[in-house]
Amino acid sequence: MLNLVLFGPPGAGKGTQSEKLISKYNLVHISTGDIFRAHIKGQTDLGKQVSQIIADGNLVPDSITIAMLEEEINKNPQAKGFIFDGFPRTVAQAEALDKFLKDNNSSITGVIALDVNEQELTQRIAKRQEISGRADDAADKLKKRIEEYFGKTIHVLPYYEAQGKLSKVNGIGEIETIFTELSQVIDSYSA
Ligand code: AMP
Repeated sequence: MLNLVLFGPPGAGKGTQSEKLISKYNLVHISTGDIFRAHIKGQTDLGKQVSQIIADGNLVPDSITIAMLEEEINKNPQAKGFIFDGFPRTVAQAEALDKFLKDNNSSITGVIALDVNEQELTQRIAKRQEISGRADDAADKLKKRIEEYFGKTIHVLPYYEAQGKLSKVNGIGEIETIFTELSQVIDSYSA
């Protein structure tokens, strides 16, 4: 199995690159943000529970997020592998994912962090909001999300670095160039 974590702050290009990678490597894309948004749209119990938290730019509690992620993995027993996009965002989530995969005789193959500076992120998301209309892309909410990233999520990197699983790719430039670099890292796992 090829299990990848595509890591990076909001606006780093995780969604765009994940879409390209899943078709090249035949993987299942699990974006916790997309799943939460689908629940909110469908007005499920989970959607109602998390809607305000997400609109405010805060992280959804670990217990809720981990349970949702495990359910999503279980929905895809035939998968050749997964791309985790937007998960894990805390060390507790990373630990839970490792444990869950281990219990299923699997593991994380590698973690690729897309490196993009804060100024570029702010510009990209301002543009994205014009199209997506996402409430949490508004300037004040985005500020909160970037704070969550640099306050909590960034600590996930040393967790994977200690396991020798972390690679970094420059996330600024042409989409195709970044995709080529990501593919090179992924191909190196099986080399
Ligand atoms: P994203 O689309 O990945 O930027 O996620 C949008 C929002 O969903 C985040 O700002 C959080 O409120 C919530 N969210 C997504 N993934 C997670 C996660 N792994 N842990 C906690 N909250 C999450």
